[in-house]
Order: sequence, then C-alpha cells, then structure tokens
Amino acid sequence: MGIEFDDDRVDVGGVDDRRGGGGIGLGRGGAAIGGGAGVVGLVIYLLVAVLGGGSPEGGGLPQLGAGSANSTGQQESREELSDRCNAEGALKKYTDCRLIKVYDIADNTWEDEFGKRGLEYRPASLVFFADAVSTGCGQASAQVGPFYCPAGEEIYLDLDFLDQLQREYGAPGEFAQAYIVAHEYGHHLQTVLGTEQQVRQAQKSNPDAENEYSVAMELQADCYAGVWSTLADQQSSGIDLTRENIAEAQKAAEAVGDDRIQKKATGSVDQDSWTHGSAAQRKQWFTTGYSSGDIDQCDTFGAMGL
Ligand SMILES: [Zn+2]
Repeated sequence: MGIEFDDDRVDVGGVDDRRGGGGIGLGRGGAAIGGGAGVVGLVIYLLVAVLGGGSPEGGGLPQLGAGSANSTGQQESREELSDRCNAEGALKKYTDCRLIKVYDIADNTWEDEFGKRGLEYRPASLVFFADAVSTGCGQASAQVGPFYCPAGEEIYLDLDFLDQLQREYGAPGEFAQAYIVAHEYGHHLQTVLGTEQQVRQAQKSNPDAENEYSVAMELQADCYAGVWSTLADQQSSGIDLTRENIAEAQKAAEAVGDDRIQKKATGSVDQDSWTHGSAAQRKQWFTTGYSSGDIDQCDTFGAMGL
C-alpha cells in the first residue's frame, strides 16, 4: 500500500506553499492573471459536478496531516515545512511531505536521465494551494484538480481535492498519488522538450484535431509517469517499487479516463469530447512507459497518427 523510499530526506527548496494565502516564496514573478493559456489538468472541471455520488472504497486513506490545517490559515515558513517533513515518520504521516518527496525524486531522476541523453533540463516548481489560485495560466478555481501550468513551469496540487478524488474515484494508495505527481511532471518534460509548444501550434493550425492532440499529450504524460516509476526504482536515492505500487498507479490512470468520468457524470460516453483518453488507453500508456523505462517509447502522437 505504501511507498518504500530509499531515504527519508525531504528537500523543500522547490516548493511554493500558497495554502495559507501568503505563500512561502514569491513564486515566479507573481503569476499574471489572464492570457487563458491552456491549463493542463489531470482532471477536468466536469469532475467537480460529479463528486459526491460515489461510495468510498479506500479504507486506508492516508492522513492529510498538517498540510490541510494550513488551508485554515496556519501558515508554515519554509523552515517549518522542512523541519516537519524531515522529522521521523513524516513520510508516512503527512501527505504533503510525501508528495514533496515524490516530486524531489522526479526532479532528480529526470535531471539524471536528461543528462544521460544530452538534453537540456530545468526543474519544475511544486505549488500547494487551497481553494483558488492565480497562475501564469490564469485563475484556477476551487477543485480544478491537479494541473501543470507551462507559463510558470509549475505543478499545482490541492491536497483536499486529491484526497476527495481518491475516495470518490476508488483509486486509493500512496502510489496513486505519486502517479498524479509524475503525470504532472510529465507535462513539465513536454514543456522542456518543446512538445507542448509544438502541440499548441498544431492545434491552432488544425482545430478539428484539437482534442486528439490533447489526448495524445495526456497519454504521453501517463507514459512518462510510467517511465519515471522504473527510473525512480533504479535511482539510488529513489523508491523501492512494488507490484502493488504499479497496480495502484494503473488503477488511478483508469479512474481518470474520460469514459469513466463521463459515465459517472452523465451516464453516457462521448468520445469526440475526450481530452485525456479512455481508461484503457491511460492504463496502457502508463504500462508502456513502466515496462520500457524509455521515453522514446512514449510517441503517443505517432501512435494516434498525428
Ligand atoms: Zn495531464
């Protein structure tokens, strides 16, 4: 059920905690509102409307920890966050600390991998928010779900929503959450590699295929998340991956498939409106990435004939 980390050290240097309103850091230049550039979310707005109907499946849901207390106004300094997350047992006790650890490993893993491939690399930032947040991609309302903003190269996580998503969608487990972070980090790689920019261009010149490009982009992020799982297992300061971990991630990938979400929301499925891919596709591409451990196997665009 849990994640076995190779070590307990948590580096909060890349984290911007905006749960209490003020935020630890200033972020990246204050995040201008507007522009309307695409917020690349793991979960779509539609989700919000359907939460509440499902039956909780996850008996052993992790505690949110002091992280959620922050949304009620208890602001931690960066130092306090670091102290809390580096205290004994913190990775088991606090979801936010564990997600920071996953993010740290993603950063280290991809820096190594890009280095080996002679590719330029730069890290993403991790932003925790509660309710609403202004980003370089515009204003994100409450419960938008986890997302990546290319303009600021930031991953945004709302812990309360993450918890809710796991309960309502039956995708519990620490590695299900790790998959979400890894998926968003996958979007960051797409920005670093220039894929995201190419896709935006292609969508502009071929609006009819806009959704197909979106699906290919999302499935590639799933594939990268799978690759990351394998690379993080190989990393000396990474994780000790188990079959249960992979099963949790696969289940989570299925849970956020467009068909699953649509069926839950409206009772029917409209493939033309898909933006993230079906449950089967998402699971398949995560698994392709995990099995190969090779980002070159993640050409979802080619596979879709784009
Ligand atoms: Zn995504």
